[in-house]
Amino acid sequence: EHLGRIRAVDGDVKAFLHVDEDGVLAQARAVDARRAAGERLGPLAGVPIAHKDVFTTKDMPTTCSSKILQGWQPPYDATVTSRLREAGMVILGKTNMDEFAMGSSTENSAFGPTHNPWDLAKIPGGSSGGSSAAVAAYEAPLATGTDTGGSIRQPAAVTGLVGMKPTYGGSSRYGLIAFASSLDTPGPLARTVLDAALLHEAFSGHDPMDATSIDRPVPPVVEAARRADVEGLRIGVVKEFGGEGYQPGVLARFREAVELLESLGAKVVEVSCPHFTYALPAYYLIAPSECSSNLARFDAMRYGLRVGDDGTHSAEEVMALTRAEGFGPEVKRRIMLGTYALSSGYYDAYYGKAQQVRTLIARDFDAAFEQVDVLVSPTTPTTAFPIGERADDPMAMYLADLCTIPSNLAGNAAISVPCGLADEDRLPVGLQVMAPVLADDRTYRVAAAVER
Ligand code: GLN
Repeated sequence: EHLGRIRAVDGDVKAFLHVDEDGVLAQARAVDARRAAGERLGPLAGVPIAHKDVFTTKDMPTTCSSKILQGWQPPYDATVTSRLREAGMVILGKTNMDEFAMGSSTENSAFGPTHNPWDLAKIPGGSSGGSSAAVAAYEAPLATGTDTGGSIRQPAAVTGLVGMKPTYGGSSRYGLIAFASSLDTPGPLARTVLDAALLHEAFSGHDPMDATSIDRPVPPVVEAARRADVEGLRIGVVKEFGGEGYQPGVLARFREAVELLESLGAKVVEVSCPHFTYALPAYYLIAPSECSSNLARFDAMRYGLRVGDDGTHSAEEVMALTRAEGFGPEVKRRIMLGTYALSSGYYDAYYGKAQQVRTLIARDFDAAFEQVDVLVSPTTPTTAFPIGERADDPMAMYLADLCTIPSNLAGNAAISVPCGLADEDRLPVGLQVMAPVLADDRTYRVAAAVER
């Protein structure tokens, strides 16, 4: 059924970079065989899934939507991929994304943009925009994404889905091609809160292959999604998010969601997080710095593309030619920004300062969570914008992650849940619910209450 749906709509949506046309049914039959042999499989056995093309898959190409990795077939599975295979999930294919997960619209893919199923002229969010579009267009029931600055929550918000960024270290980065290692977090995209929780539980938990993986039990997210009550919960509205620069229709749906939570028995208060205003500039020093280091491995020798290897160029020249041709403009911009921020003489002024701001943001969260159980905000300042509108304006593009970035910098759990359509354009609006580190279950509890 899902292959049929992909054939019918993906020519317009363009969510997939690779579909496992020949392998899907064999994968499904193998799950049946495991069940027939008496293996006890979990609730997602036999359910199809689409993986963001940032996760390595040993039987399918993995490109990160970059020319530099075109045609590369990884020799191993990411932990997220292998755990979901063990759970009996069937991989439909790999989804489009912003190149190396840098972007908010999926327009930075070397293989062309993905379209929002609600309005094909609009962006599906990014960087996990292929995954959000695939689920929103019913091409896949579930998808994986990664969230470094908002890349699961923002695409979920603008396509009417549930998208969750787990606590940093709660889901494994092993086999997830690195963008900014201290921020990158795998998470689920789904059409309901319970679906997201089931997927979250299936791939989460300690992984010795990831040095920053947390060795603690997975928070009880499925139980929380089923519980869905907010009676007595203290909910903080972040004072710094809202007002100028936000679309009126987004703010209207946000206010209604807060009123709904109050009517369900939550206590709502306003909370100030004064340093959240500095999250965006701090992120755009930290993330490019880490990216400039991580992307050094694409040296024309180890993977994929190699340009100028004709006996007339030195190794350095081959490296330069390959990187010049293989990386897109946004990736190059980040590498240059990061290299500059990390260079001697500037390190303290830029990278060091950004790390100090990061600590202040984490302290804002700590102080807030002494007063309230969760914080809420709109997920994004606007609904989905037209394809092309911000493509040449990096600053405007960066604003899409204004509200999501603080949780990446502090490492805490955050979810986006649909809360209606904006009046102006009848496009989906997302409510963001943020909880302390390892209180992922609390975000599901509140999101499930809003969903009902
Ligand atoms: N849009 C942000 C960026 O471009 C976040 C990306 C992400 O979360 N991967 O960096």
